[in-house]
Amino acid sequence: MDSLAAPQDRLVEPLLSPRTQAQRRLKDIDKQYVGFATLPNQVHRKSVKKGFDFTLMVAGESGLGKSTLVHSLFLTDLYKERKLLSAEERISQTVEILKHTVDIEEKGVKLKLTIVDTPGFGDAVNNSECWKPITDYVDQQFEQYFRDESGLNRKNIQDNRVHCCLYFISPFGHGLRPVDVGFMKALHEKVNIVPLIAKADCLVPGEIRKLKERIREEIDRFGIHVYQFPECDSDEDEDFKQQDRELKESAPFAVIGSNTVVEAKGQRVRGRLYPWGIVEGESRPGAQPVGGKAPLGRRPPHRPPPPAVENQAHCDFVKLRNMLIRTHMHDLKDVTCDVHYENYRAHCIQQMTSKLTQDSRMESPIPILPLPTPDAETEKLIRMKDEELRRMQEMLQKMKQQMQDQ
Ligand code: GDP
Repeated sequence: MDSLAAPQDRLVEPLLSPRTQAQRRLKDIDKQYVGFATLPNQVHRKSVKKGFDFTLMVAGESGLGKSTLVHSLFLTDLYKERKLLSAEERISQTVEILKHTVDIEEKGVKLKLTIVDTPGFGDAVNNSECWKPITDYVDQQFEQYFRDESGLNRKNIQDNRVHCCLYFISPFGHGLRPVDVGFMKALHEKVNIVPLIAKADCLVPGEIRKLKERIREEIDRFGIHVYQFPECDSDEDEDFKQQDRELKESAPFAVIGSNTVVEAKGQRVRGRLYPWGIVEGESRPGAQPVGGKAPLGRRPPHRPPPPAVENQAHCDFVKLRNMLIRTHMHDLKDVTCDVHYENYRAHCIQQMTSKLTQDSRMESPIPILPLPTPDAETEKLIRMKDEELRRMQEMLQKMKQQMQDQ
């Protein structure tokens, strides 16, 4: 771009500091481009400014470790005020929907995280259709979004749609129970279901492998559609492809949750301390809390150490956390919007159209009003007009006859 510079500029150039020279060269290079290559940066800046939201539902029998896992995943205690029910209370309890929202921030990126908990699921004696309040809740969020989208102010729509549902499967059974099949089948067309084997520390590796195989086979057999990880792009590097393969092979993830800090090999880590030892005694070298070393969320400076349930040989906690937060959060939102919500929207529009056609068939669009009863004066006028019309018709008939005779 030297040729574009004025002759005096070229003379001054060697006298400038190297930094200014570099800045000038950058400016010259800039002149060669139209500039739309900066579009991704603009989008990035805009979305960072706006912030992100994500709604995660946790479902499964109570006591399977849902709240503990949420705590371990986001290092945020959302269940401080939770009241545990007695056995009698739980028997008569119906499924509740509890929403906790927390604003977390990491490296200037804001995330509004909503956790939807479903206490009481599977507790009542009569378990049939215990997922109904949950399906209703998911539908209500779609309905609200549909209304907001059709309203006047579409700019600031609050997205409360459920983007992912972590479904906890008991590690003590021999696969899926009827309630698991019922729940997943009732929700699989509405939400991205990620099945998890809870409390994986209760099983040895061989048992985990068998249970995973069994669950995968049953998911197939019952025609349950769980969240499918998208295909990896062919131009991704080998490491990423390998990670992606491992992720797919690990499903359903076997997880361990812990919100207790234990001492292991000189490090204070989150783990489960048993009389015989610690489940995941140490954080792997290089394993970091969500988002690296930066503090997550608005937590006090004495925040607890990262979860120690990070040993990938012990459980799939890290894979789940990476998938949910680092690699697939956006895809989960996209699938919710493009597949599940689109299905709901199409169904709604279809219903509205067929109702409209039905209504228009039943009643005429132009209202048929009753004719007013004529008063005496009008009646007289009508009679006169009728008489006149009759006389004219007679005259016309006579004229016709005369013409024919001639
Ligand atoms: P929730 O009712 O599903 O939310 O279950 P909680 O998170 O309250 O956990 C119930 C009990 O299980 C608590 O005593 C937890 O400490 C324990 N727990 C949670 N996660 C695990 C786990 O991964 N393994 C084992 N063994 N126990 C767990």
